[in-house]
Amino acid sequence: MIPRSHPRYLSLATRDAIVKGVENGVTSIHGLIAHGRGEAFDYLIGEKTRAFAKEAIRAAAVMLLKAKRPVISVNGNVCALVPKEMVTLAKRLNAPLEVNIFHASKRREAAIKKALREAGAKNVLMPTRKAKLPFIDHNRKWVNPEGIAKADIVFVPLEDGDRCLALRKSGKKVVTIDLNPLSRTAKTANVTIVDNIIRALPLLNQEIEKMQRNTAAMRMSKYNNKSVLKRAEQEMRKSKE
Ligand code: ATP
Repeated sequence: MIPRSHPRYLSLATRDAIVKGVENGVTSIHGLIAHGRGEAFDYLIGEKTRAFAKEAIRAAAVMLLKAKRPVISVNGNVCALVPKEMVTLAKRLNAPLEVNIFHASKRREAAIKKALREAGAKNVLMPTRKAKLPFIDHNRKWVNPEGIAKADIVFVPLEDGDRCLALRKSGKKVVTIDLNPLSRTAKTANVTIVDNIIRALPLLNQEIEKMQRNTAAMRMSKYNNKSVLKRAEQEMRKSKE
């Protein structure tokens, strides 16, 4: 048990959640490495949601609210860290959650579905052999014909670059959360929120709720993902004295 008084309580508790995800069969052991990479970048932004992330969150909220068929893609790390917030997002957008993992495992796909159901999800789509995302070879090409296959916008946090590119080449818009502003995913997505998913997702849900209450707030100001990524990178490269 990590004491709440520990100065890095949240970071350690998050690490515990990922380890628990591996133990419960939700997260792949490779997910630990992806998490470690994320932690390093989080350190460089002071483990806080910065202005460039807030701007991307607003753009993401507008884009997701304007979508005709949004779909929310869930992998093992996301499911271990923020299952309830993903369910909240799905409910707010009236969008399905779709399980999609890099390392093929029927058992892990089922464990993710179960965890999402336990977190309150009603509609969890599974990958099928009936629909295939083009421009990609590995396990992630298998999608659900009622989900990602038909989506106009896919929310894919903590994604790998190949799949993000395949989604974009298929004509879909992509919104992601990725702490690494240099990743292929970050550069390929239409909107990249450079922040830890544990902080960014509750903020995205709040922003969407606010816009649903007051649609005037939904106006999209000029958004430039490239410049947001540049600002994130500059912030990280600044010396931390
Ligand atoms: P790419 O293929 O896009 O160049 P990659 O090979 O690093 O990136 P993965 O190993 O799949 O892709 O890692 C997923 C990404 O998620 C990494 O960029 C990592 O920084 C980021 N990440 C990990 N944990 C978190 C988190 N908690 N919040 C936000 N981003 C995270």
